[in-house]
Amino acid sequence: HVTTKPPPEPSPLRNAKFFQANMRILVTGGAGFIGSHLVDKLMQNEKNEVIVVDNYFTGSKENLRQWIGHPRFELIRHDVTETLLLEVDQIYHLACPASPIFYKYNPVKTIKTNVIGTLNMLGLAKRVGARILLTSTSEVYGDPLVHPQNESYWGNVNPIGVRSCYDEGKRVAETLMFDYHRQHGIEIRIARIFNTYGPRMNIDDGRVVSNFIAQAIRDEPLTVQLPGTQTRSFCYVSDMVDGLIRLMEGEHTGPINIGNPGEFTMLELAETVKELINSEVKIITVENTPDDPRQRKPDITKAKELLGWEPKVKLRDGLPLMEEDFRKRLEIPMKN
Ligand code: NAD
Ligand code: UDP
Ligand code: UDP
Repeated sequence: HVTTKPPPEPSPLRNAKFFQANMRILVTGGAGFIGSHLVDKLMQNEKNEVIVVDNYFTGSKENLRQWIGHPRFELIRHDVTETLLLEVDQIYHLACPASPIFYKYNPVKTIKTNVIGTLNMLGLAKRVGARILLTSTSEVYGDPLVHPQNESYWGNVNPIGVRSCYDEGKRVAETLMFDYHRQHGIEIRIARIFNTYGPRMNIDDGRVVSNFIAQAIRDEPLTVQLPGTQTRSFCYVSDMVDGLIRLMEGEHTGPINIGNPGEFTMLELAETVKELINSEVKIITVENTPDDPRQRKPDITKAKELLGWEPKVKLRDGLPLMEEDFRKRLEIPMKN
């Protein structure tokens, strides 16, 4: 027999909200790529106060420059694997390196961030009665045997491989979310994010879209990892941020896939980047890394039905926006 405990009584501190109309929102990992775009969007609402905690492993203050000093914004250098005491209403928990080269760099730390970091944010949510959203990943489906992937698929993940610190780390994070929900009545939301791209991605973080755009701009060959027929689906960051906010504000715990169902092979992506950015550039094939999923495409039926969300920006429209940002940062102007 299963009992779900009622949510905890709001703390007196949270009740102070009735005197101050503002919503206090914590964004962990808010100095990173998706996090900083989420902060931009949340800050547009004058009723929001935003607190970012970040250890700057892959993020930077530069991404939040426009908000530093703003009266509704605070930035705290903090590692989520350590206890955090704050009074907030909502927690967007993003802290975790997303690029394989960074999450493989210190795999034990990646596990601690996913497991201890998520546990701490849930402990915080429990203490103050906050709603918490976890940015999980399509990697929980591993090298999927079901295509496209819907949320009821349990995945095909190698528990002892070089990607496992990330994949299994996120799977435990999802388990923790649901156990805190069932055991302590915490309000949870889980987004399973599929490959996302856009301005502010780390230029040399090894991910395919950032690699190809940087290579095209620098006149270097586009490195397609073998076999090149593996597929991914790429979501532009503004669509992603909209989906995350809708999930947080909606009534459904998830997990819900958030991603763009447009599916491309890596060879097709290289051809598209060549056509849009640098028609002279060469495309070469190089060795791949172990456990690379062969295909990935989200089934977004649930997001459409439950959140009224679907992506708007097509790959062909998103790539030039990213090119513009990369050219500025690399200081390489457009050729005429
Ligand atoms: P990112 O690396 O740009 O951002 C992650 C941020 O978390 C960085 O600012 C980093 O400094 C911070 N961080 C890392 N470990 C931390 C720790 N222990 N304590 C405090 N801060 C820490 O990555 P992103 O692309 O913005 O991804 C954000 C979230 O979305 C991650 O949880 C990631 O797993 C998830 N996600 C991203 C994608 C994608 O395609 N970008 C796909 C699936 C899931
Ligand atoms: N925690 C935190 N901030 C809080 C409350 C808790 O960082 O405001 C951390 C706490 O250090 C603990 C974790 O969250 O390691 C889980 O907290 P919980 O209260 O659920 O578990 P317990 O402390 O009883 O193990
Ligand atoms: N990839 C590639 N060239 C690169 C970097 C990556 O062909 O320079 C391929 C990689 O083998 C994988 C896909 O692009 O099949 C997506 O890789 P990424 O690291 O961007 O994301 P993830 O594997 O996490 O989906």
